[in-house]
Amino acid sequence: MEILEKVAYMKGLAEGLGLDTKSKEGRLLTVMIDILDDIALELQDIREDQSEMEECLDAVSDDLSDVESYIYEMDGEYDDEDEDEEEDGDEDEEVYETTCPNCEEEIFFDETILADGCVECPNCGEKLEFDLGDEDEDEEGDEEE
Ligand SMILES: [Zn+2]
Repeated sequence: MEILEKVAYMKGLAEGLGLDTKSKEGRLLTVMIDILDDIALELQDIREDQSEMEECLDAVSDDLSDVESYIYEMDGEYDDEDEDEEEDGDEDEEVYETTCPNCEEEIFFDETILADGCVECPNCGEKLEFDLGDEDEDEEGDEEE
């Protein structure tokens, strides 16, 4: 039996007893029954609120786990912006620098020219050959001639 039903039953019982509400005891019992009635009603409200809150909490919990899985899924692509900033292509092209021994002009060149082994000075036209230091066939380059 629910508390509300019990209180209702008690009320009926009190009425059936022909409780004298004018006597001190009767008044006390009537007040007590009223209070019990109020408590039972309030308890019912609280229970309803609680089950509503549980439903809300379930919904929030579900949403939160959706958000969690979304975040974990996109974890790898998290720093999209950084990837855009450093373009991979640039890193491959290293720029080398040398000084022309003839006119002391600074010459900049990239790997492709380095692979050729020589570059022409844009200032004086002097042909510069590179000694890359790696094991080329003729290591005895006669630069000193
Ligand atoms: Zn030069």
